[in-house]
Amino acid sequence: ASASKLEWRERSTSTNDELAALVRSEPSSAWPEFSVLATDVQTAGRGRLGRVWTAPDGTMLAVSVLLRPTSAGIRSADALGWLPLLAGLAMSRALRILGATTELKWPNDVLIAGRKVCGILCEVVDDDAVIVGSGVNLTLSSTDLPVPTATSLLLEGAAHDADAVLAAYLSELRSLYEAFGAASGDAVVGGIKDAVSADCSTLGKSVRVELPGADTLSGVARSLDDDGRLVVDVDGRLTAVAAGDVTHLRY
Ligand code: ATP
Repeated sequence: ASASKLEWRERSTSTNDELAALVRSEPSSAWPEFSVLATDVQTAGRGRLGRVWTAPDGTMLAVSVLLRPTSAGIRSADALGWLPLLAGLAMSRALRILGATTELKWPNDVLIAGRKVCGILCEVVDDDAVIVGSGVNLTLSSTDLPVPTATSLLLEGAAHDADAVLAAYLSELRSLYEAFGAASGDAVVGGIKDAVSADCSTLGKSVRVELPGADTLSGVARSLDDDGRLVVDVDGRLTAVAAGDVTHLRY
């Protein structure tokens, strides 16, 4: 396989959007797995469900990684349930190496001391291209925080150099993804389910899961099922919720 690319941009509207456009417009041989587009100035970052992801210029690392799960022998259903969690775990581990005490909030956030330091956005580009985007708050000050539930590596006293975060994250992501691929996307066999569960502070907590429309589900988060869904105990009845169906998850 050809070497993967790492493109650093001085600025980007959205690293997910720009990488997706490149992947769509050029032959797949030009964009092998683990091609990366990154910036620290993102002008139109997105969260899930059209929500906005913002940070002052130069204070946040936005990094998008191209994966080709089908080529790696992973069924798309397995990929979609687990890749956001796998990316979150990779970021959680990377930030821990840099001195932060991190935890995973299912389905797509990395927290420090209960506040969001990183959000993950996985998007399907085509049958064999998934883009895993992350936004990591590096140096936002307390007055820069877009929402009171956010924090940054600087505020938490951890190392916050963009290159160091990028290198640690890509290395953790690669080894987790290789284990997942070697297990053909079986998260149990690949050890991914146990590894994610161990880092996931959502488990054991009382949660309120907001679903599309006005529906909510209140109960205790018990475990992850084999598809990466959150199993919630609502008065003794177990219900599995898929990330794609959740609009908000609150503790
Ligand atoms: P929620 O946290 O509300 O349950 P979510 O975790 O799924 O939702 P995303 O859609 O992943 O949220 O991210 C978008 C949300 O993140 C925004 O609505 C905003 O509240 C918050 N946000 C935006 N920019 C940042 C940032 N730099 N750091 C932390 N949080 C941010």
